[in-house]
Amino acid sequence: MEFNQAMANKRDYYEVLGVGKDASADEIKKAYRKLAVKYHPDKNPGNKDAEEKFKEAAEAYSVLSDADKKARYDQFGHAGVEGAGPDFSGGFGNLNDILNDLFGGGFGGFGGFSGFGGGFGGGRGGQRQQKVYRGRDIRVRVKLTLEEIARGVEKEISIEKSVPCSECGGKGAKNSSDIKTCPACNGTGQVQRVVNSFLGQTVTYSTCQQCGGEGKIITNPCRTCGGTGLVRKRETIRVKIPAGVEAGMQLTIQGEGHAAKNNGINGDLLVVIEEQEHKDLKREGNNLFYTKVISLPDAILGADVEVPCLDGAYKIKVEPGTQSGTVVRLRNKGLPTVNGYGGVGDMYVKLAVWIPKKLNREDKEIVESLRGKDSFNPNPTKEDKNFFDKLKDLF
Ligand SMILES: [Zn+2]
Ligand SMILES: [Zn+2]
Repeated sequence: MEFNQAMANKRDYYEVLGVGKDASADEIKKAYRKLAVKYHPDKNPGNKDAEEKFKEAAEAYSVLSDADKKARYDQFGHAGVEGAGPDFSGGFGNLNDILNDLFGGGFGGFGGFSGFGGGFGGGRGGQRQQKVYRGRDIRVRVKLTLEEIARGVEKEISIEKSVPCSECGGKGAKNSSDIKTCPACNGTGQVQRVVNSFLGQTVTYSTCQQCGGEGKIITNPCRTCGGTGLVRKRETIRVKIPAGVEAGMQLTIQGEGHAAKNNGINGDLLVVIEEQEHKDLKREGNNLFYTKVISLPDAILGADVEVPCLDGAYKIKVEPGTQSGTVVRLRNKGLPTVNGYGGVGDMYVKLAVWIPKKLNREDKEIVESLRGKDSFNPNPTKEDKNFFDKLKDLF
C-alpha cells in the first residue's frame, strides 16, 4: 500500500515544530513562527530544502493549531488527518502577512517603526486615526542616607532626555508645506491586502512601509532634529522624596521621561531608591538597631550614656546592674512609613559591656580584690533567675 508507505515516512508533527506533546497553543504558535521566519521561500530563494521545511512546518501547524485535527492526530497519528495539510498551489503567501495573521497585526521588527516606544490607538479598521506615540521612561538611581530617609528629602536629578525640537515645534519640518500626505496609504498609515494562504482568504491591514504608519511624508526635514521632531537635552529636575522610603522602591514622576514624536505623550521618570550604609545604625524595615558598648563600672553602677539617633545624639539611662546584652527600646526613634499609616518605627539599643584586656598592676589589684567578694560571684537572686534561664536557652 503506497499510501501507508508515505505515512510511515512522515515526520512527527510535534518533532517538526520542535515542541513537546503537551505544548500549549501559544507554544505551538511561537514554534511555528520561528520556523516560518527561518524557512519561508521569500527569505530562501531557490533553496529547495528550506521550501520543504517550510511546507512541513506549515502542515504541522495547520494540524496542531486546530483543536479538532490535533485530537485526531494525537489519537491516530498521520492517518487521522490524511489530506489535512495546506494547499500551496497558489503560492506561499507573503511572510509579513502570515505573521500578521498569526499575531494579530502590529508585528514589529519587519520594517515597522522602532524606538520611542510603541504606538497605540492605531485601530485596525482602516479608518483614519492619528497614531499617538508615548515617549520612553527614564530610570535613574538615587542613593540616600538614613538621615535623608528619616526626614524626606528633595533631590536634584540631572537627566538627558528627548524633548520636542523648538526649531520645528516637534513637527519634523519647519513649514507645513514640507509635510505631505503619504500617497501609498492616503494618510491612513495602513495598507489593506487580500491574502490567500492556507489559513484561507483574509483581509489584513498592515503598517504602510512608505511612511512607517505615520500617514505623512516629510519632504524637507528640519535640520535641527533631522525630521524626528525631537532633540536631546540635559535637564535638572527636582524630585521630592518622601520620608520612610526603602532601597528598591521606585517613584514615578509622570511626564518627566522622554518626549514622544508627533507631540505625543511623555514617558515617565522612574526614580529607584538606593540606601547608603550608615556607619553606626542598621536598618530593618522601619526599625533601627545599634550596639552601645558600655564600661564595666557603668554597667554595675548605672549611668547616662549617649546613643546616635537619626535626629542627633540621644541620652539613655543604663540601670545599675545592667547585664551585657540587655536591649533598650527607644520608641518612635526609628523611621516613618512612606504613607504614614504604619506609624514610626523604634530604635533598639543593645548594651554590650566592655571587658578590659590590658591592665596595669594597680588595676589588677583592684580587680583581684573583687574576686573574693561574694557580690561579684554569680549568685542569682530570684529576679536574676530569669536572666540565667535565658542564657541556658541561648545554647
Ligand atoms: Zn503611508
Ligand atoms: Zn526640528
